[in-house]
Amino acid sequence: MSTAKAAPWVAVSERSSSLSPAPERRPAEGPNERGRRGSRAWRGAGWREPFGCVEAVAGGCGQPPLCFAVRSDLVGAVVGRGGSKIREIQSTTNTKIQIIKGDPKAEVKIFGNKPMQTKAKTMIDNFIKEQENYSPQYRVDIVAFQPSVGRDVSTNHNEDLPLINWDKIREDALKWGKKKWADLPPIRKNFYVESATTRAMSQLQVDNWRKENYNITCDDLKNGEKRPIPNPTCKFEDAFQCYPEVMENIKRAGFQKPTPIQSQAWPVVLQGIDLIGVAQTGTGKTLSYLMPGFIHLNSQPVAGGKRNGPGMLVLTPTRELALQVEAECSKYSYKSLRSVCIYGGGDRNGQIQNVSKGVDIIIATPGRLNDLQMNNFVCLKSVTYLVLDEADKMLDMGFEPQITKILLDVRPDRQTIMTSATWPCAVRRLAQSYLKEPMIVYVGSLDLVAVSTVKQDVIITTEEEKRAHIQAFLENMSPTDKVIVFVSRKAVADHLSSDLILRQLSVESLHGDREQSDREKALENFKQGKVRILIATDLASRGLDVHDITHVYNYDFPRNIEEYVHRVGRTGRAGRTGMSISLITRNNWSIATELIHILERANQSIPEELVSMAERYRANKLKREVEKKIGRLQGKPQKFY
Ligand code: AMP
Repeated sequence: MSTAKAAPWVAVSERSSSLSPAPERRPAEGPNERGRRGSRAWRGAGWREPFGCVEAVAGGCGQPPLCFAVRSDLVGAVVGRGGSKIREIQSTTNTKIQIIKGDPKAEVKIFGNKPMQTKAKTMIDNFIKEQENYSPQYRVDIVAFQPSVGRDVSTNHNEDLPLINWDKIREDALKWGKKKWADLPPIRKNFYVESATTRAMSQLQVDNWRKENYNITCDDLKNGEKRPIPNPTCKFEDAFQCYPEVMENIKRAGFQKPTPIQSQAWPVVLQGIDLIGVAQTGTGKTLSYLMPGFIHLNSQPVAGGKRNGPGMLVLTPTRELALQVEAECSKYSYKSLRSVCIYGGGDRNGQIQNVSKGVDIIIATPGRLNDLQMNNFVCLKSVTYLVLDEADKMLDMGFEPQITKILLDVRPDRQTIMTSATWPCAVRRLAQSYLKEPMIVYVGSLDLVAVSTVKQDVIITTEEEKRAHIQAFLENMSPTDKVIVFVSRKAVADHLSSDLILRQLSVESLHGDREQSDREKALENFKQGKVRILIATDLASRGLDVHDITHVYNYDFPRNIEEYVHRVGRTGRAGRTGMSISLITRNNWSIATELIHILERANQSIPEELVSMAERYRANKLKREVEKKIGRLQGKPQKFY
């Protein structure tokens, strides 16, 4: 390391100009830009603290540091964005790492005990190897996107690169897949014993029952010859007669009969068939997959203790839903199965510890689970029962890449259940990729239908008048009322709640910018009725399961009609009735027609002003289309931006 400077990089004067904090927001970047920023980042001030103080925090103080050199251009790959990788190495190995800048090589010193030093070095070597492997491909991409005009053909090194043999890659992937899953125990999937009553149902009885239960529909999506659709289990005993502990749990909960989705989902899932359940929260969909999941888990040939990982994995879009599913898991706990909740924003180390203690069921949001999986804190090879809960919302939130990565490590012959409130193309595509020959059960029509137990009121108003409306409503609430007020943005949630607090109203707020612990506290206070007004963004529009919400107040109307249906579904739950009030301004006119459809189908009254708003919007749209056409015909110059 002849040219290396003696002092740690953080103190190197040559770098002092780059020691100012990195700007918080950066414009969108291409791969080139990202590469350059990587090298800037490892000189940034944000780094100073974790790697500068090397004194004896790490175990093995008396041990001399492990020193070695790395190419300076690869240091960024070791450090990671904002120091993420090096921090990860330090926390995983309990070492402290110092990087002393030099040209062409930097010196790395690892402080800690000997085995951990070696482990940290291996991790560093792996990051470097990854970067070196990635680089040639990276260069090809850049060359491929260069405009050809003016490019000097003689300097095009593309020709030197060997052609990619896709057939070989596919063949290897197949071989590798077989090897990866070779030594796994078989999965037991079929636990269904049809009761005499269910078997004895005539087709007419089945049809009538489905019709009377929100028009349940069930279909077999298997190609070729179709399997018989099982009769619904109209009573709990029809599904779980052979599982007395499950029956006890249900009795303890005081449920009267299966919900529509449960009655049709249970006989499918208990047979080991993959299922797509199109149903909203509040319909009992969680227990429709949890109960059969418990039985599945407890009946596998390899007992929980020997499994070396979870047997059931539930992926959910939000922390709130994950916590809720976990609560249901614990409430109906079966044979002491252990469940753990893993979600972003929560205590990462605590979650790692919980998982490492041994776990049967993981309920997780995809981002955090992917993080723990990539860092080898959790092994998903033992999962035999997988649930993708609220798949549509997970896709909306952009979780598809994480889901893809997670599922690479889940054995392909597992049983998979997917729930979704809607059934758009993206969700169908996901189902096609991850479910095998599934059946689909949907409750009600596949179109959007808001819950019929909710009276839906619409008030046409202006942005300026909204405050007066909500204040009047909240000040007139009865002591037993509980309302969730939906707003469009976090800032509105903050402003509105502080405004209301100043008016001596006790409110809580729930949005993505609040600390997770504050969010949990707010929700708990609302659930327990300590606070009866919750101001929330759409974070709470799904999954939130508070039985006694009497009113949903749409202070800001949601961006799309699906979200409206989800919001409305927060009230009128578990057999109760509820009311929703929506403030509509001119800004929302594009949604008026769809809202009218929803109101019509739920037999709600439709204000005249909403109808004329929809008509005005349609007329305006038509006018603009005509103008556009005329403009084109007259050859108006087009605008180029
Ligand atoms: P979910 O759709 O899973 O969010 O469920 C909504 C609520 O319904 C949960 O609190 C469940 O405990 C409750 N629930 C589930 N199954 C039933 C049932 N068969 N009868 C009454 N309530 C139920």
